[in-house]
Amino acid sequence: MGIPESPPDTIAGSSIVPTISAHVAVIGGGVIGHGIAWEARRSGRSVVLIDDAPGSGASWAAAGMLAPVSELHYQEEELLGLMLDASERWPQFAADLTRVSGRGSGYLATPTLAIGADAGDRQALMDLRGVQQANGLAVEPLTVREARRREPLLSPAIACALDTPADHQVDPRRLVECFRAALASHLPASSGIADTAVAGALDGFAVADRAVSLEWADGAVAGVRLAGGGLVLAGETVVANGMAAASLENLPAGLRLPLRPVHGDILRLAVPQHLQPLLTSTVRGLVRGVPVYLVPREDGTVVIGATQREDAPAGAGTASGAVPPSTGSSAVSAGGVYQLLRDAQVLVPAVAELELLECTARARPATPDNAPLLGRVPADGGDASAAHIPGLIVATGFFRHGVLLTPAAAAICRDLMEGKADPRWQPFRPDRFSGRIPAPSFNIKETA
Ligand SMILES: Cc1cc2nc3c(=O)[nH]c(=O)nc-3n(C[C@H](O)[C@H](O)[C@H](O)COP(=O)(O)OP(=O)(O)OC[C@H]3O[C@@H](n4cnc5c(N)ncnc54)[C@H](O)[C@@H]3O)c2cc1C
Repeated sequence: MGIPESPPDTIAGSSIVPTISAHVAVIGGGVIGHGIAWEARRSGRSVVLIDDAPGSGASWAAAGMLAPVSELHYQEEELLGLMLDASERWPQFAADLTRVSGRGSGYLATPTLAIGADAGDRQALMDLRGVQQANGLAVEPLTVREARRREPLLSPAIACALDTPADHQVDPRRLVECFRAALASHLPASSGIADTAVAGALDGFAVADRAVSLEWADGAVAGVRLAGGGLVLAGETVVANGMAAASLENLPAGLRLPLRPVHGDILRLAVPQHLQPLLTSTVRGLVRGVPVYLVPREDGTVVIGATQREDAPAGAGTASGAVPPSTGSSAVSAGGVYQLLRDAQVLVPAVAELELLECTARARPATPDNAPLLGRVPADGGDASAAHIPGLIVATGFFRHGVLLTPAAAAICRDLMEGKADPRWQPFRPDRFSGRIPAPSFNIKETA
């Protein structure tokens, strides 16, 4: 686990560039990049996290539901193992993060209620329950009376309610703040965490710049070239910049990262004092076949989401501030906002009395099979546990589940850095949509 030595001032040309060296360089500061950076740090590695707008991508929008049970979709059963693994990790992961950062991440082990608005929705939820039960997941029907005893502000007109105790939540914005505080705390060895502050990085870990390309040396990825002209040298480089991963230059020849944006509108609302608490459980509803959810936060706000659109409104307007173009359009759909408020009120009529604080839209980084692109890149068509491109790990394409999957992705990446590859995660290998990827020494232009 050696830190690459800083090279002479000239690399791949003659310009003098500032160079930073660390064990690990992570490109992209969403929940995934931060989670991987934090896990690498607490395994004793020095880490640089590169992002000029950390936390501003899909992670900014996410509701933060940790919902392996409710999120089980037909024909996506392969993902279930990964989602359950992540779900099991969450309590300890959140507790460790709070201990080191001194902040709360908003992790709550409160349950989820699935609510159907009419008879068709009830049938759809009962059909889904059949699939959930077939996979060993607990989803128990409640009478409407029982559901309203737990959540008095649910509409009396709902058709059904199912208790999903294993689906929880975290606040992704607070989570990113926790990660950054934890990464910034370079404690003495007595704390159990080695001093891993990186010289030249903000707070010992952050680089506020865009990654432009991967840097190669001797057939291995050796770091990251930055838009500002700087260079980060690292023994391991993790590509975790969400939707923008495929546009990095100098990716291995032949590696296809087929990401497509699936836009989502989502709302944040304040609950007035007389309606507190609006809900104590997360409510995931089906209203005439259209999904909608309400996630109550500790701070008395509620998140209502989310649409799924493959198109983006034409305008460049944003209801929640500018977003870098590489994270996808942030234009909010008026129709989406209308639909969310309309359907949320069917389930919880008091939604009409809330204060609308924020409308946000972001793109979920989706793949053709809706599963992440996660792992090392095998060279010469080998399997991921055999010959791979040294120094490179890919972690993108987390689509609807990036927050839930953060602890699992982080643990998988740490294992890969330690030379361990769990065969359970082979189906997510990042080259699965690529043809044969030639061994790098034969076809990658080396720049160092
Ligand atoms: C409306 C909505 C609701 C959602 N709800 C949930 C939910 O309830 N539960 C759940 O698990 N998931 C949810 N998701 C999905 C989740 O948000 C994503 O899967 C997750 O945020 C992906 O994280 P990421 O770190 O891969 O990407 P992002 O959060 O998009 O982060 C990518 C980062 O990379 C940076 N970047 C881009 N290019 C570069 C570059 N060249 N150099 C350096 N940095 C770069 C960007 O600035 C950004 O900070 C939701 C998504 C949306 C849109």
